[in-house]
Amino acid sequence: MPRDKAAEQLNDFKKSVTGPARLTTGHGCPLADKLNSLTVGPRGPILLQDIQLLDEMAHFDRERIPERVVHAKGAGAFGYFEVTHDITKYTKAAIFSEIGKRTPLAVRFSTVGGESGSADTARDPRGFAVKLYTEEGNWDLVGNNTPIFFIRDPILFPSFIHTQKRNPATHLKDADMFWDFISLRPETTHQVSFLFSDRGTPDGYRHMNGYGSHTFKLVNAKGEAVYCKFHYKTDQGIKNLTASEADDLAGTDPDYSIRDLYNAIADGNYPSWTFYIQVMTYEQAEKCEFNPFDLTKVWPHAEYPLIPVGRMVLDRNPKNYFAEVEQLAFSPANLVPGIEPSPDKMLQGRLFSYNDTHRHRLGANYTQIPVNCPYRARAKNYQRDGPMTIDDNQDCAPNYYPNSFSGPMDCKSYDDCKFHVAGDITRYNSVDEDNFTQAGIFYRKVLNEAERSRLVQNIAGHLISAQEFLQDRAINNFSQACPEYGAAIREALMRLKSQAASHTAGIHAAPASSAKL
Ligand code: NDP
Repeated sequence: MPRDKAAEQLNDFKKSVTGPARLTTGHGCPLADKLNSLTVGPRGPILLQDIQLLDEMAHFDRERIPERVVHAKGAGAFGYFEVTHDITKYTKAAIFSEIGKRTPLAVRFSTVGGESGSADTARDPRGFAVKLYTEEGNWDLVGNNTPIFFIRDPILFPSFIHTQKRNPATHLKDADMFWDFISLRPETTHQVSFLFSDRGTPDGYRHMNGYGSHTFKLVNAKGEAVYCKFHYKTDQGIKNLTASEADDLAGTDPDYSIRDLYNAIADGNYPSWTFYIQVMTYEQAEKCEFNPFDLTKVWPHAEYPLIPVGRMVLDRNPKNYFAEVEQLAFSPANLVPGIEPSPDKMLQGRLFSYNDTHRHRLGANYTQIPVNCPYRARAKNYQRDGPMTIDDNQDCAPNYYPNSFSGPMDCKSYDDCKFHVAGDITRYNSVDEDNFTQAGIFYRKVLNEAERSRLVQNIAGHLISAQEFLQDRAINNFSQACPEYGAAIREALMRLKSQAASHTAGIHAAPASSAKL
């Protein structure tokens, strides 16, 4: 059987070196014997003096860092962003300063709900996070393969994610948990429709689009601002797995998407995405019939056309997965001059949460890890010390500000653009905002008949495991998006129930010898 590039990785390493390097301990001391512990006589106990053994075991005991709470399973790669169209009238961000300019980048793709050993082909949104190493700091676009999300208020995020994880008692995935939350929060209807559509099981990571999803703000050199959304469309074409292909691959090749990406890049078949923005002026935002900062909504293409900007190319695999992918830490708060947050509540919540989780997972100095380091800008500030200070800790520069000794100075030209907000402070209930119009358009206008039918089958096939009152409540939401949508799910559910009933009756009626089939 032919071996692909991923299978050949160890052979490739062997060919790349002239011979084995000298083996050492962690402190660099050459080792004479890596195969035998230090003992008193051939059958005697091991000595505490066996520093080599202790060093090895103690490091091994600490090999794992906490898994990401979400997006635990993923694949990463490196490449560049290239500007193809001028958008300097919208933003002063250095990355977009001239056509042809290239900026190095890192990408991490992932599933969301599963653990680090879970199957790549699970029905789940896919993370599509991009870190751009610009000369004015790292810009992270921490997107997904869907332009929207399930909820619009970050206070619901931990509960929503718990429903995607395991039941606290059974430690099993639980359809009741999922459909209870989903049906109680009707704003999930749009994203749930995406999730159970064909795009819910993309064929690897190369054949799907990415979206910055949130609404951001672009600011130009004159200080003028517009709202914007980011889209990155696959140049490989959209390709999805059928539900049964995805299920089969979950058993036969749970690492399907990691393998596909690694081999494509190793074969020189570099995947790329065309990068676009959508722009909305402040005046348009005020008159917009829906809340443009609501993450459960898209901006219709006809009103806010895609404006081409550039392309992203992935042309290098990680040299070491742990160092360059497991430790790769993205944050929507990593913005650069010319790109600012909007009032999108989900974005506001993520501005806090990502850096917080990195400090927990990787430590306060996680930006010193090479893959996270803003190496084209260099961090110069008054932060010092903390665990794992691995760079020069800003040497002998003053560690307080202001100072009279030429420590780094702030620069007013990098001020955020000024904006005005006013309003009564309270907890505004958004559950009854328009939750269904766009989901209805998606069902009626975007999907063709075959796609609608698969969407309905996929929902019914999952909903059947939930209790009846949850099924009714969920169908009521889909019906509000489009009456035919809800009716089709109810019909598919009834069919599945009667098939299950006749299957059970058949088993009970069967002779004892065949019952175990
Ligand atoms: P358009 O007809 O201009 O756009 C529809 C978009 O739907 C396409 O451009 C494509 O987005 C996306 N799409 C096509 N097929 C599928 C599919 N099988 N599953 C998921 N998405 C698909 O209409 P509008 O912009 O007015 O949007 C209409 C509806 O389309 C929205 O309510 C939303 O549900 C959906 N949609 C809209 C997007 C947007 O940014 N406006 C993006 C994705 C979906 P793409 O080109 O990004 O692949």
